[in-house]
Formats: sequence, structure tokens, C-alpha cells
Amino acid sequence: MGLEAIAAEVRACEKCGLCRTRTNAVPGEGPPDAAIMFVGEGPGQREDEQGRPFVGAAGSLLNQLLLKAGLRRPEVFITNIVKCRPPGNRDPLPDEIEACRGYLDRQIEALRPSVVCTLGRPASQTLIDPTLSISREHGTARKVGDITYVPLYHPAAALHQQQLRPILVEDMRRLGPFLKGRSQVTGDR
Ligand code: URA
Ligand code: SF4
Repeated sequence: MGLEAIAAEVRACEKCGLCRTRTNAVPGEGPPDAAIMFVGEGPGQREDEQGRPFVGAAGSLLNQLLLKAGLRRPEVFITNIVKCRPPGNRDPLPDEIEACRGYLDRQIEALRPSVVCTLGRPASQTLIDPTLSISREHGTARKVGDITYVPLYHPAAALHQQQLRPILVEDMRRLGPFLKGRSQVTGDR
């Protein structure tokens, strides 16, 4: 099933309680041949208003960090582990993550990215390892089947802790070699 069909299902989804408080579901966006996918925690207020991922303050910072690492936002696919905003930006609950998980798995299957970067602890623990520590393992790649998973600090953390920005950029720059051979990736601009 294609990404658009999955997105349409997400917009109509009522599988968990977050459907009752959302304004818009946020399926995610990016080109269907993106080599790299970024997975955040869940929509915030701006994302809920617009139905698009990472359009608030964390999103602007993400765009800047991507550029510094030689990636442009229009060439990457961006989504979240839960597609509807948790009220007051609380962490998504385990049963909400579980209910929503199938959409993310199907997006990964449809996109077949070379690299999946998980942003922050909830996304990294959900997709890579439930005991993962971001401060210890950020930037460390793990290959599972055809996909390389790389946990990164969440850009929202880097909004408050300036010292995390160069670390995020450096970790992103190191994604280059995993993306070789995929024409839409721009290399080390
Ligand atoms: N933070 C996230 O984790 N996801 C978004 O879409 C926006 C902010
Ligand atoms: Fe459905 Fe996911 Fe939204 Fe819950 S968070 S209602 S499972 S799309």
C-alpha cells in the first residue's frame, strides 16, 4: 500500500484516545523515494493545527540542522511514532504508541528507506531498543535487515541545550556513507 493511502487511513483513525483531542492527525510527509526517514515523538501544537510534522520551533531547528549536514528537508521523509498530538505535549502513553505503531511500520515498508533516524528517547526506544540511552548511543548506527537505524537527540532538546546542536549536526553528517548511491541525496554540501 502506498504512503498516500496510509496517510488517508491515519487522518480518519480512531484507534486510540488521541483522536478525541486532535485538530488534525499528522501522518508525515516527504517524497516517496526518500532514502532517509526521521521519526519524532508526536505532533505538537503547530503540527496539530496544520496537519504537518515538525512545523513549529523544533521543526525550524531541524531544517537548519539538516542543511548543515548537507540534507534538504524536501528530500527526507518526516513522521512521528504517534500521529495525533498528546494533550499538553505530554509523552505518548505506551498503549497509544502500540495502537499507532502499525502505521509507522507500514510507512517504513512502503518507503523502504536506507536510513531511519529516530529523534529522541521515545522514538528511539520504540523503534530500536526499549532500553536505549540517547546520551550514550546517539549517532551509533545499527543495521536491521536492509535498514540502518540511527538514534539522534531530539531537536527540541537542542532548542534548550545549545551544546547539543553541534553534536546533532555531526551525527547527521555521518549519515552520508549510508546514503551512497541514492541520487536524491546531496552529499556533503
Ligand atoms: N516534535 C516532534 O516530535 N514531532 C513533531 O512533529 C514536532 C515536534
Ligand atoms: Fe490513530 Fe495513531 Fe491518532 Fe491514535 S495517535 S488516533 S492510533 S492515528
